[in-house]
Amino acid sequence: MIYDNEEIVMKANEHTKNIIKKELAIGGFKKFDYPFLNTREYERLLIDMTKSKKTRCRNARLNSETMSEINKKGKLFISTVTEDINTKIPYLNTKDDSLEIHFLEKNEENTINDNNYIDFMNFVLKKSKKTDIIKIPIEYFGKKGKNGWSVTYLPYRESIDLNILGEAPYISMGIGMENQGDELSFSVLVHEYTHTLINRHKGIVENYANDELLSIFMELLSAHEQDQDGRLLNAALISRLEAIRKNIIKLNLEKQDGYLPDIKAVYINSTIYAIDLLDMYIRTSIKGKKAILNEIKKTLVGERTLEETLIKLDASEERGSQIIRTKVKTLLN
Ligand SMILES: [Zn+2]
Repeated sequence: MIYDNEEIVMKANEHTKNIIKKELAIGGFKKFDYPFLNTREYERLLIDMTKSKKTRCRNARLNSETMSEINKKGKLFISTVTEDINTKIPYLNTKDDSLEIHFLEKNEENTINDNNYIDFMNFVLKKSKKTDIIKIPIEYFGKKGKNGWSVTYLPYRESIDLNILGEAPYISMGIGMENQGDELSFSVLVHEYTHTLINRHKGIVENYANDELLSIFMELLSAHEQDQDGRLLNAALISRLEAIRKNIIKLNLEKQDGYLPDIKAVYINSTIYAIDLLDMYIRTSIKGKKAILNEIKKTLVGERTLEETLIKLDASEERGSQIIRTKVKTLLN
C-alpha cells in the first residue's frame, strides 16, 4: 500500500473534501450522496468488474467522420429531442467582449470581494446573449473525438465565499470538443449540450452524484437512435462500461485506504441510473418513450429537480447494476 501513513490519508481526505465542497457550491448542488456503494448489487458489480478484462473493441469498428458531419448529427439529435421546449442559454462571446471583460476582471482582481462578486457576475450576465443551444459556437482541439467540455464563465477567487460562488448566475462560454472524430463522436456533443441545458438551472440536480446522469443518458440514447442494428449503441456502452470499470476498481482501492468518494462516484452512480433509464426507454412502446422524454424535459426546462424525475420514472440503482452486469459479460472481456 502506498498510503499507509494515516496522516497522508487524512490530508488527502481534506484535499478531496475541499474539492468536493467547491464543486457542490459552484454547481448549486445540495448534497453528495452515494448510497449505491453499500448495496448488494454494487458488491456484485465490483466482483464482475474486477474479473473482467480490458475491453477489446470487437463490436465497435467505427469509421472516422468529418467534424462538420459530427456537428450536424449532434445538432439534429438535440434539436429533435428538445423541439417543444425552450433551449436558450445565456452565452458570453468572449471573443467579442474579451477586451472589456478581461479589462474589468484585471482591474477588479484585487477589489472583487464577497460584496461585489454577484454584481460583477450580473454585469457580465447583461453582456451575454440568450442564444439557442445549437447556435453556441463549438471549439475544436485535441485529437481523439472522445472528450467534450461545456465551458462556464465563473471567475474563481480563493477569497470568495463558496456560498456566494453558488449564487452566481450561470453563463455559458461555449462548448469544446476534441477533433478527429468517428461515427460516435456526435454523441459527445449531445452529452455536452445536455450539460449546458441542465447547468442553466442551478440546483435542478440536487445530488452531485447525479451530475452526469442525464448527459450520459442522452449520449447513449443518441447512439441508440442513430442506427438500427445496435452497433453504435454497443460501442457507446463499451466505452461507458470501460470507464466505470476503471472507476469502480480505483474507488474500491481508495476506499480501503480511507479516501472519500469523489468524481469517480459521480460517474459510477450516473452511469448506473442512465443505463436503467435507457433500458426502460428501449423496452417500452412509442407512447411510453414519449412519456419518458416528457418527464426528463421537465428537468431540462427547470420545472422539476432531477431527483423528483427519477422517482417519477421509478429509476432503480438495483436494476441499473443488474443490466450493467449482463452487459459486462457480453460486451467486455
Ligand atoms: Zn459529462
